[in-house]
Amino acid sequence: MDFEFSTRSQELRTQLEDFVASRVEPATAVYRRQVEDSGDPHFHPPVMEELKSEAKARGMWNLFLPDAEWGAGLSNLDYAPLCEVMGRDALTSEATNCAAPDTGNMEILAEFGTPEQKDEWLVPLLNGEIRSCFAMTEPWVASSDARNISSRIERDGDHYVINAHKWWTSGAASSRCRFAILMGVTDPDADPYHRQSMILVPFDAPGFRVVRTLPVFGHDAGGGHCETLWENVRVPASSILGEEGGGFAIAQARLGPGRIHHCMRAIGLAERALEMMCRRVQQRVAFGKPLAEQGTIQRDVAESRLEIEQARLLTLKAAWLMDTVGKKAARFEIAAIKVIAARLATTVIDRAIQAFGAAGVSDDWGLAEMYAHARTLHLVDGPDEVHLAQIARRELRPYEEYRTG
Ligand SMILES: Cc1cc2nc3c(=O)[nH]c(=O)nc-3n(C[C@H](O)[C@H](O)[C@H](O)COP(=O)(O)OP(=O)(O)OC[C@H]3O[C@@H](n4cnc5c(N)ncnc54)[C@H](O)[C@@H]3O)c2cc1C
Repeated sequence: MDFEFSTRSQELRTQLEDFVASRVEPATAVYRRQVEDSGDPHFHPPVMEELKSEAKARGMWNLFLPDAEWGAGLSNLDYAPLCEVMGRDALTSEATNCAAPDTGNMEILAEFGTPEQKDEWLVPLLNGEIRSCFAMTEPWVASSDARNISSRIERDGDHYVINAHKWWTSGAASSRCRFAILMGVTDPDADPYHRQSMILVPFDAPGFRVVRTLPVFGHDAGGGHCETLWENVRVPASSILGEEGGGFAIAQARLGPGRIHHCMRAIGLAERALEMMCRRVQQRVAFGKPLAEQGTIQRDVAESRLEIEQARLLTLKAAWLMDTVGKKAARFEIAAIKVIAARLATTVIDRAIQAFGAAGVSDDWGLAEMYAHARTLHLVDGPDEVHLAQIARRELRPYEEYRTG
């Protein structure tokens, strides 16, 4: 294993840290105030556009895209430490045009899009002019098993007609969100892995609407997570992404790098929670000594450090494997980090909340919001159990000859 970051990655990390410290952190309070003053939790505050211009000018833009024609051309391993920096706060990913779900959408548009689809959707996304969403999950079926997805995409002459009820469509409440990549059934009679297709659907298509946003533990911000309805929405046949029936294959392609991004961001979030905890326990005195001298607090700090190091090393190994032997060969590590990074983030943030006392569960320190976000990582892109089942199957397979029943 070679986890050495390239010189370019190290330089970019230093520049990104400087951008965060000098621009993003001071802008965070302004961002909050502008959203609050607007009265709309999904308002796009002008300060974000200022941050984006500054990030572009500094070359801190589209760092996620491995395709050198469209993005920075970094390997997964070289991009991973940048993701960790981005994960420390809620604004840097968007400011640098490296935010989900656009990143996954841009990746698949770059890989599977036609030249016309790239011109219409990828270019404005890369320029940070619009945003997008990804609509797969449905309220009425267990969507962790994508074979259950039942929305219909039916061919009608030169068009497709879409009838879909989705939810948790992240980003759809943003006024800047212009289209969805939607997954649905094109051929119900095909085998389960070729029934689905992905299609590009503009938000101004008649028949589409956002029903409501779904707050997470009461937190409702950014582009929102939405229940969405598509009723008899007609789009030209050229809107299909890749081949008809290729939805599953594209979904797989979308998830690999996305998982590294999510996990490294979760590690960045855990690092921040640990830093906050360490600062706080030095400052508060209880029962005659600083909290930092209490054995249980020391244990929480030490366990957090061990778990962060373990998660980071495993995530870097997954990134390195993806770069060297490919996504398929790295699937065990990718499944493992998806579980471990979510677990790490919720555990470390929970310890920080405890060390803060009642302040930890208030909105004053941001820990409650960090926890709400981290908790969702156990569900998004497939719940923990699905990944654990995949790992267990691989572990148990060599011992099948011992079966008695
Ligand atoms: C904040 C947030 C943002 C999201 N953003 C998006 C988005 O942008 N686009 C989108 O399409 N979706 C999005 N999702 C949805 C997410 O991907 C799904 O919630 C997830 O795939 C699980 O599907 P489900 O909710 O239907 O759970 P279900 O499939 O109903 O599963 C319920 C539970 O069953 C258990 N389970 C499932 N499979 C197994 C198994 N094999 N073994 C044991 N137990 C199992 C797990 O505990 C699981 O949590 C988002 C979700 C959240 C919370």
